Amino acid sequence: MEGIIFDIKHFAVHDGPGIRQTIFFKGCPLNCWWCHNPESQAANPEKFVKINKLDGKEFRKKITVGYKIAVNELFKIISGDQVFFEESGGGVTFSGGEPLMQADFLYEIAKLCKQNNIHTCIDTTGYASEKTIKKITEVIDVFLYDIKLIDNELHKKYTGAPVTGIIRNLKCLDQNKKNVVLRFPVIPGITNTEKNLSEIKSFIKSLKNINQIDILPYHNISNGKYERFKKENKMSSAQALPDKDMNILKAEFESIGFNVSIGG
Ligand code: SF4
Repeated sequence: MEGIIFDIKHFAVHDGPGIRQTIFFKGCPLNCWWCHNPESQAANPEKFVKINKLDGKEFRKKITVGYKIAVNELFKIISGDQVFFEESGGGVTFSGGEPLMQADFLYEIAKLCKQNNIHTCIDTTGYASEKTIKKITEVIDVFLYDIKLIDNELHKKYTGAPVTGIIRNLKCLDQNKKNVVLRFPVIPGITNTEKNLSEIKSFIKSLKNINQIDILPYHNISNGKYERFKKENKMSSAQALPDKDMNILKAEFESIGFNVSIGG
């Protein structure tokens, strides 16, 4: 079986416990205004022209983002870092894009990792059928699960997809006592509004078994990517929240009983 990925990051330290290898799956059913990986969204490989400037001259190079890879071939790459996983308590993290968009491929590669004692994480929007979520829990140790906006209309406006299934799947993981770390992207004027924060706090307080949240600061380092990939950038003038505001937010989540990390 083959899947489509667009990058592999070795020695990652913010994508789950220990030292990790992060596999970036191509394709995402969402279209968040603040996406840091706009090149991840289309399901198939995409061609673009990379322009480098040097001494006033432009150098153009054709590049393809995304490539097919077989389960066995990918496993060989993942297991090449196994010694680092074992020494650090790390493993592999499936990210993207949205790995659940290639659920069969994800299941097969994660199963192979588990059969070889490699710890598995998924960095996910949770946008999938309940059947898919339940099946994938067989082979995933930790879910890094995005929680962005609770209001369905606002979620549709800013991500292009409804939140209802995402909330249903999160409740399902909670009821089944799966290991979940919530991830809240702090997007100025969009996710950090008083209304959304109040709705998020009230919702996550109702979860019985989840008590860890990473709050992820917005940064605009991806502006160049939007130009390169000729994608519309709706956040080009947004500014990151100052550190002191992130610390206030951290204290707010701590006050409702959560363990909070800034940046994951
Ligand atoms: S869910 Fe993640 S990868 Fe998908 S569009 Fe949103 S930010 Fe980008």
